[in-house]
Amino acid sequence: MTGMTCYDLHCHSNVSDGTLTPEALIARAIEQGVDVLALTDHDGTEGIAAAKNAAQGTNLRLIAGVEISVTWSSGTVHIVGLNVDVENETLQQGLLDMRSFRIGRAEKIAQRLEKVGIKGALDGARKYASDVLLGRLHFAQFLVEQGHAKDINDVFKRFLVRNKPGYVPSEWASLNDAVSWITAAGGQAVIAHPARYKMTATKLRRLISAFKDAGGVGVEVVSGRQHPEEVKTLAKLAEQFELLASCGSDFHTPDNTWVELGHLSPLPQSCVPIWSTW
Ligand code: AMP
Ligand code: MN
Ligand code: MN
Ligand code: MN
Repeated sequence: MTGMTCYDLHCHSNVSDGTLTPEALIARAIEQGVDVLALTDHDGTEGIAAAKNAAQGTNLRLIAGVEISVTWSSGTVHIVGLNVDVENETLQQGLLDMRSFRIGRAEKIAQRLEKVGIKGALDGARKYASDVLLGRLHFAQFLVEQGHAKDINDVFKRFLVRNKPGYVPSEWASLNDAVSWITAAGGQAVIAHPARYKMTATKLRRLISAFKDAGGVGVEVVSGRQHPEEVKTLAKLAEQFELLASCGSDFHTPDNTWVELGHLSPLPQSCVPIWSTW
């Protein structure tokens, strides 16, 4: 691999729902041989400054990113923004609205868990969260801690999802809004982990089409823990829709030994890497 630049353009710190501080994330990325890392916390860029500082004076290049939650066609889709200006007011106002929705949602999640006899979930989840953002993964950590589920995966089967205790329907940003905030902030919008939405081929093409119309430019062709067949399919879609290709681990925590920073298969030859435009 000598001479090859290692890109990881999707990961999380404890500012959103990862477990490492931005500083520890940078240290781990360097250890793992990452050359270019985008920090893409959910619905906030509060970790970028600390990550930038930590990367300074090292050989690691830090890309300012974000992962915005979107409601599209009554499901949730994630849009990554790369190289965003974190000072941009349009972007920050949008992200602020997302996080205030999260506060109300967290209260409802806790109320709904209480109905099935699980008390103290709001404070319990908060213990795992930064003061920037409260997410379902923090509730999941609390539920595992309290013995209501054997692991995080188990939580997302039995709680917090449709028809299960603690489920609250999402009302995230529209696809157009999310892409336009990113674009307003000078960034490039990328569809995150498209294979994870379990959409039919037709629906995925509809999403990509709407995303392109909104001004989106990229798609994550390679994501952490992804099947080689999915990579091929996504590379083909990127080519057909003339979208740039990105790759990112979606790393959240060292506890998940399946997903590591920078451990990604290469982009297929047919792809135009998003960094070719940088
Ligand atoms: P939220 O944005 O608060 O609704 O939470 C979504 C986050 O929960 C994702 O970014 C993941 O980090 C986590 N998550 C969702 N489903 C699962 C799952 N099955 N296993 C592990 N983490 C999950
Ligand atoms: Mn997450
Ligand atoms: Mn995501
Ligand atoms: Mn992510």
